[in-house]
This record gives sequence, structure tokens and C-alpha cells, in this order.
Amino acid sequence: MYTCGPTVYDFAHIGNFRTYTMADVLVRTLAYNGFSVKYIMNITDVGHLTGDNTGDADTGEDRIEKKAKGEGKSAWDIAKFYTRAFTEDFKKLNLTAPYRLVKATDHIEEQIALVKKLEEKGFTYQTSDGVYFDTAKFPRYGAFSSLDQIKEGARVAINPEKRNPRDFALWKFSPRQGSTLGKRPAKGEVRQRRQMEWESPWGMGFPGWHIECSAMSMAYLGGGEPSRTIDVHAGGSDLAATHHPNEIAQSEAASGRPFVKYWMHVAFMLIDGARMSKSSANNYTVSDLERRDFSPLALRYLYFQTHYRRELNFTFASLTGAQMALNRLREEISQWSEPKIARLRRQGCAEYEQKFLEAINDDLNMPEAMAVLWELVKSDYPTSAKAESLFKFDEVLGFNLRVPQVSRVSRVPRGVMELVREREELRKQKRFHLADQVRAKISKLGYELRDEGKRTIIRKK
Ligand code: AMP
Ligand code: ZN
Repeated sequence: MYTCGPTVYDFAHIGNFRTYTMADVLVRTLAYNGFSVKYIMNITDVGHLTGDNTGDADTGEDRIEKKAKGEGKSAWDIAKFYTRAFTEDFKKLNLTAPYRLVKATDHIEEQIALVKKLEEKGFTYQTSDGVYFDTAKFPRYGAFSSLDQIKEGARVAINPEKRNPRDFALWKFSPRQGSTLGKRPAKGEVRQRRQMEWESPWGMGFPGWHIECSAMSMAYLGGGEPSRTIDVHAGGSDLAATHHPNEIAQSEAASGRPFVKYWMHVAFMLIDGARMSKSSANNYTVSDLERRDFSPLALRYLYFQTHYRRELNFTFASLTGAQMALNRLREEISQWSEPKIARLRRQGCAEYEQKFLEAINDDLNMPEAMAVLWELVKSDYPTSAKAESLFKFDEVLGFNLRVPQVSRVSRVPRGVMELVREREELRKQKRFHLADQVRAKISKLGYELRDEGKRTIIRKK
């Protein structure tokens, strides 16, 4: 399985992490069903141009080089910094470590080889700024690309040298390289050089954004010289219109075989009804949430409350709800008797395990799986049996339930938590006088409450 990873010119936001988390749930679900999964994710550290915002990934500036210029750092440092930030958040969300996290800049050779193969087979042409894939030579392209619809109304800078607006760059020349190749600079001419550029049979340049995923996924999962069809390829829903059709076209044109069996596209996370994106100010990172005292795993919980094919509108109220539910779950478990390690045959609750399995295997129906979890928690089974099943579910859910008391709030004694819930209930009913009395009780027990918007923070005095 291959998942399209981040472009490392900025922090990944919680919308991006919805995609990675749901891909992680698929990896875990496959493993839960007994499959062994070889999982690859890429890091785009070169070649993703800003024109992609307006529907054309071949125009504009390289996002990483642009950021480097803006910050007075090297492009390599920018990529390194944000790759590290990404892997830290990745761990915080308890995402399954891929077999390899592969960087585009470490696989330039593979990408050049793939472009060469396409050239040999007659699928490419050159313009003054790069080598392009000729979509007219791959008639099936129209069947799976919805790019024409996407482009309608979008402000796309027309590249007059492209034979067809849907053609896309496989290799881009470093600025001016194409037209000035072999020519001496004129007097006073400054040739702007890129920081990241490589020699290629077509001159100095860098790979187009799409080619890395084809080259690396086939290198690691397709048996190098593409001999196998890859089982699963995942990414956010925006990739279904451009990036993935382009991957299919260039991979299948080169190999003559189906590229991927199953595509998984995760619907977007929105904020206030609008797309959450790196380029707009309306995005939050995992660290932003931590600064507000949320645990990253509460975000996991929040993701699971909506099916991955449906858009999810982020609000702090819903995240607060997810955090409270996760805390309640931990608290509940902390009261249960541990299943005895020494016991020969551990008993879970087969009935709920069956329902859980059906839910996850039904196109990753996580809202249903979470409902089954709570049914189990509230059931009359012995707590040791419930724990047994719950820890099994956690192989898919990834809440780290076996690790007790990780969140600050969960260290609050059960009695205090009950009072906090009682007070919340009273506040919901607008019985503020009674709510204040409960707050006073909580205070006597040594805890203070601070209301922030719709959420309450509990601290030991
Ligand atoms: P990028 O770093 O922009 O290349 O995006 C990385 C991944 O996140 C891609 O799979 C995108 O489709 C996905 N993505 C971007 N924005 C969102 C969002 N708001 N919600 C969910 N996934 C997203
Ligand atoms: Zn990709």
C-alpha cells in the first residue's frame, strides 16, 4: 500500500492528518484481518509548484524553494525541518510507521529512468520549460481524469506550448535552462539557479510533481521494473482529479500493466465550511491543539466520528466532545480488572468482536465501530472480558488504551470527573446556580475549573 505524503514546505495541518489517519486505519484493518502490509509513504521535498492551487501543477514556483527564499534558508533545510515536524506529529497521532518513508530527492535516478522509458515509448514531448506527458497518446486518460471540470472557472495560467491543457510535466528545466541550453550567458544576464536541480538527459532540472509517486511506488511495491500491480494507493480527495490520474497514465504507459487495484480517497476536513489548506490562514496543526490542552489522540477519536468518504467540518466544540469521550473511555478502563496475563485462554466478548469486525470491514465504517465500542463498554460482560475485546479493537483504533493515564485530565480522580460531568449537564440545562454549587464542591476536592468557550479545563490547585 502506498499513500501520497506531505509536501514539506510547511507544517502538515489536521486536514492533511485526517487523510494519513484514515490511511493508517486501512493499514491497521488489513493487519487485523490477517494480511501483512508493506506500507510506503512519500515525502515530496521537490517539484510541487504553486500553480497547483489554481489547478495546474506545472506552473508557478516550487513551494519549497519559495519558502526557502522567504526565510533566507536553504531549500534542503526547509525540507528537513518540515519533514521532522511531520514525523513527530505522525508519532503523536500513533500512525503506523511505514516500511519506508521515501523522499523524492533520494529517488531522482528512478524518476529519470521512468521519464526515459516514457520517452522511448513515444509518450512525451519537449517544450522550452520541460518534458511533458502527451495525454493524447494515452486515450484512456479522459476516462478517469475530471481535470476539465476542475479547470472550469479556475484561473489557470495557460502554457501555450502544451499540446493539450491536460498534459503534465514529467521533468522541468531549471529556469531558462531549456532555451539557453549550451548558450553562453549574454553580458549582464543573470541566470537564476535553483537550489535543488539535477543533471538529466534533457538538461539541468527537477522532476515534475507526479512522477515521484509512480517511480517510488513501483520501485518499492511493484518490484522495481514494474512487474506487479500495487494493491492500494491512498490520498486526499483532491488527488483524484489530477495527481492520481497522472500517476496512472504515466505508470501504465510505461509498464503496460494496471498500476493499482484499489484507490482510497479521503474526503476533506473543512473549517467553517471552507477547505482547510496550508496556504490559507484557517488551518490548525497538531501542536496548536496540544497548546490548547487537547491530546493528539482526541483528534484520532474525532476523525472516527465521520466516515472517511464524507467531509468533516472541524469545530473546537466537536474536538472537546471527542476529548471528553476519550477521557471517559480511559477512566472507565482504569476501573476494570486487568485480564490475567497468566490465564491460559483469554475470553473476549465474541458478539461485539464480530460486530466490530463487520463495521471496520464495511468500507472502514468507523462511526459504527465506535458505536460498537461503547455498546461493549456499557454491556454486562465481566470487565476482564470487556478489556480483552477493547484492547483488540485498539489494534485498529490506535488510542493506546493499554498505556494507562496518559492525558493530564485522566489523572483527575473519578469522583471529581463525575462532578465535572454533572456540572456540564447542569450548565447545558442552564441551571447555573446548581452548577456553581457543584463547582464549589470540586474546588473543595482540590481542583479548579476554567471554562474556555465551550470546553472546561480541569487543573489541580
Ligand atoms: P500536500 O502536503 O498539500 O501535498 O497534501 C498532503 C495530503 O493531504 C494529500 O493527500 C492531500 O490530498 C491531503 N489533504 C490536503 N488538504 C486536506 C484537507 N483539508 N483534508 C483532508 N486531506 C487533505
Ligand atoms: Zn502521490
